[in-house]
Amino acid sequence: MQIGLRVDVDTFRGTRYGVPNLLAVLGAHGVSGSFFFSVGPDNMGRHLWRLIRPSFFKKMWRSGASRLYGWEILLRGTLWPGPVIGEKLAPVIRSASDAGHEIGVHAWDHHRWQARIDNMDAAAVRISLKKATDLQTAILGRLPVSSAVPGWKCTDVVLKEKARFGFVYNSDCRGRSIFYPVVGGKTLPQPQVPVTLPTYDEVIGRNGITDDNYNEYLLSRIKPDKLNVLTIHAEVEGMACLSLFDRFVKQARSKGASFVPLGQLVSEHTPAARAGIVAREIPGREGWVSCQA
Ligand SMILES: [Zn+2]
Repeated sequence: MQIGLRVDVDTFRGTRYGVPNLLAVLGAHGVSGSFFFSVGPDNMGRHLWRLIRPSFFKKMWRSGASRLYGWEILLRGTLWPGPVIGEKLAPVIRSASDAGHEIGVHAWDHHRWQARIDNMDAAAVRISLKKATDLQTAILGRLPVSSAVPGWKCTDVVLKEKARFGFVYNSDCRGRSIFYPVVGGKTLPQPQVPVTLPTYDEVIGRNGITDDNYNEYLLSRIKPDKLNVLTIHAEVEGMACLSLFDRFVKQARSKGASFVPLGQLVSEHTPAARAGIVAREIPGREGWVSCQA
């Protein structure tokens, strides 16, 4: 029983702290997976800023927080671009590759992609993919193997633009089997490896699932006769949930499961299916995500 292991790295913090933690855990178990890095500016602060602005602003005004912390820290990624992750943390990205993991493109600007994809035209998509691919190529000294859009926000425009790049496969949607995407009646050449299992944040705190029974729940969703692809996050399983994930790897392996990079699933199972990608809502996640039709 194989589990395709996908590690999404969204932020500067996740790269700096979560990735080395995960490399240690995976290395201790002799497990390899596919890491998808965001390498451009970390503007995730903008996201937080949007959520907390009114009350946060009042509190800062009252407490003189700007004097305590300085405006630079409070406004990181809000008034000017956040740090370019791939420039500051290239050795971390290389260390994942050196440890034998497959490396792919996640994003140039993770936050911008999630917030703007509905309004991005082909040129904007191409520029974003090219910036991320170019920087990752410079860091690794070779082309990234694959790509995976942020937040499973993929469109037909994105699929067509990706076909211009040398990715061996892409992982842009939720679904059930490895398939060739069809856009406007045309079958594209890069297979899709869909994610089949929910993420931690999608299920925790819902339907009685807590950290105490999360691993059992996840194991119950893994089917020996089906495609199994799990996404973990450097910011979650690599940090606060590191020991929970460590136990999950141990439990899964004791039940006979082996963790593999997504590229291995592609090379071992010739994709037979063809399907379009459609936008759907799924339990536990805000807004639409791309799904295998
Ligand atoms: Zn992500």
